[in-house]
Amino acid sequence: MDVKPTIKKNNNITCNIAFTRYEIVKHVGEKIFGWKLSNDEEDEKWDILWTDCAVPPEKLAKMHPYQKINHFPGMYAISRKNYLAMNLSKLKKKFPNEYNFFPRSWLYPCDLNDLKLFMQNKKNCYLIVKPEASCQGRGIFLTKKLDSIDPNGRFVVQEYLNKPYLIENLKFDLRIYVLVAGCDPLRIFVHEDGLTRFATEEYSKPTQNNFEDMCMHLTNYAVNKNNPNFVHNEDPDDDDSGHKRSLQSTYDHLSEMGYDVEALKKSIDDSIIKTLCSIQPTLAHHYRSCQPEDTANAMCFEVLGFDVILDSKGRPYVLEVNHTPSFTTDSPLDWKIKKHVIRDALVLMNITSRERKAYLKKQKELILKRAVTGKLEKDSKEERQIKSNLLKQKRDRWEQKHLGSFRKIYPSESTEVYQKYINYANDMYQEWTGGNLAKSKKVLIQEKEKEREREREKIPRKVQSVKDVKEQKKHQIIEKNKDDEIMRTRCSSIPILVSPTETERPNNTVFERLSKPSIKKYKSSRAPIFPPLVYYDDNNKPINAKQLHPTARIINGYFDSKALINRNIGFKMMAPKVFQFVFEKNSDGQ
Ligand code: ADP
Repeated sequence: MDVKPTIKKNNNITCNIAFTRYEIVKHVGEKIFGWKLSNDEEDEKWDILWTDCAVPPEKLAKMHPYQKINHFPGMYAISRKNYLAMNLSKLKKKFPNEYNFFPRSWLYPCDLNDLKLFMQNKKNCYLIVKPEASCQGRGIFLTKKLDSIDPNGRFVVQEYLNKPYLIENLKFDLRIYVLVAGCDPLRIFVHEDGLTRFATEEYSKPTQNNFEDMCMHLTNYAVNKNNPNFVHNEDPDDDDSGHKRSLQSTYDHLSEMGYDVEALKKSIDDSIIKTLCSIQPTLAHHYRSCQPEDTANAMCFEVLGFDVILDSKGRPYVLEVNHTPSFTTDSPLDWKIKKHVIRDALVLMNITSRERKAYLKKQKELILKRAVTGKLEKDSKEERQIKSNLLKQKRDRWEQKHLGSFRKIYPSESTEVYQKYINYANDMYQEWTGGNLAKSKKVLIQEKEKEREREREKIPRKVQSVKDVKEQKKHQIIEKNKDDEIMRTRCSSIPILVSPTETERPNNTVFERLSKPSIKKYKSSRAPIFPPLVYYDDNNKPINAKQLHPTARIINGYFDSKALINRNIGFKMMAPKVFQFVFEKNSDGQ
């Protein structure tokens, strides 16, 4: 049922749609909200940017506080199959009875031993094998034999749920639209509208004869639409026929069959919250390191597509989370449902031009003040906290009145129940990134420093001889070695929570983590850490490095960072324009 919101059109708002291919997004922006659309990739003067790609932290770091973007940096931690499996499995180890809403999963080849053990005990069990970074059912297959999996590939392998709930003998999955409106703290909404996608061949348990029939075992629209059996839904009001139906039609069906739909929705909501709790610290870390001054917690929002399957008892399992759920509108039903979801999400995000005007006015005042006083005024921590609380209250009021067809699932009265998952995920995140180690090192150094201070206060000052200083240095080295030893013992007492086979670190995460805080560090670092790629001689003429004598070195050489940028994207942020470095002559004098 559509709850139509009242929307005041506002052509003072610019929505950049240069990075989206979805017509429905443009339609909602222009026709429903009356916004100006900008199709210019270079244009930075937008109020809202809707993109179909993940957002790197640098993008968020460059944004003004009034701007909004439809992704959170770090959402890959659940939107990529391997990270989702990894993150949920970690929490499952700690909370086995609470994190049991997704199929048992293994990362291949990392978890091969575990997988072999599982298969030894369950002889007739089918596995579903998914390439770790694929989508739309591409490359997915069923198997009982581990040796049929490419040993050089990287997959997520799952226990195949072979007793799904069937409607008209067909397997189906539910597409639930979830709005994450803030990450620190989390704000989560679930839309009442959604889709049910059906397989196009009647279901039977996987056997030697049918395990390759993807139109029986997969419910992806992309797979099934090519089957001649596929029936398109032509009438948006007739939402319970064809192979793509509304979510509501399935709820109605389940209700008719005597299922408690409200309990089912609660159970789905619970799985969604738990999934997001598992990565809240990752999202918050990215957000805060990119926008440390932000008080509104509203610069990013994201419409996620949760794929949920029901087993024969009507129990939901989360299969996948899509960070860019398809907003293609192949049928009138698609158009209707996706329009409602996007519209209601944008209403909830309360995009106005007031914030931009207020921000620009404040910036002007600050610049003027700075010109007079020479100081840049900044809000104190307390002031920021007060502002943040006020904004939160204002936002709560807005959201309460403008839910549309969304229901708020987090925070709620039962928020406290979920805090332990976030806390644990946070501990895991600190382990992962070495945050705990850094913290305990810092604490140890501070403790030592205080101790030394106390010692110094006790001893009356006297003039030190060279011998004394040498002795003192020696003592300091011994003390440092002791500290290191303590650190080693402390670290070894930290339980290894990630098995050695699971220690794959996402490269981009490391880069993302390094990118912002490390800019200063690398700016001041010395050139030799970079490969000398292009040099200029004293007359500023470039020298081709290949033409140089192999033993030659450059005197007063210049290093061109552009070449580096092309070669190594990882240093893009860090490389200053030009490095100058002086090299000595080689011993053979060239
Ligand atoms: P993709 O991103 O390629 O769509 P999914 O993980 O969503 O990959 O899987 C595609 C389809 O395969 C699902 O829509 C579902 O029908 C089926 N499927 C996936 N995992 C399982 C599972 N563990 N048990 C049963 N069916 C599954």
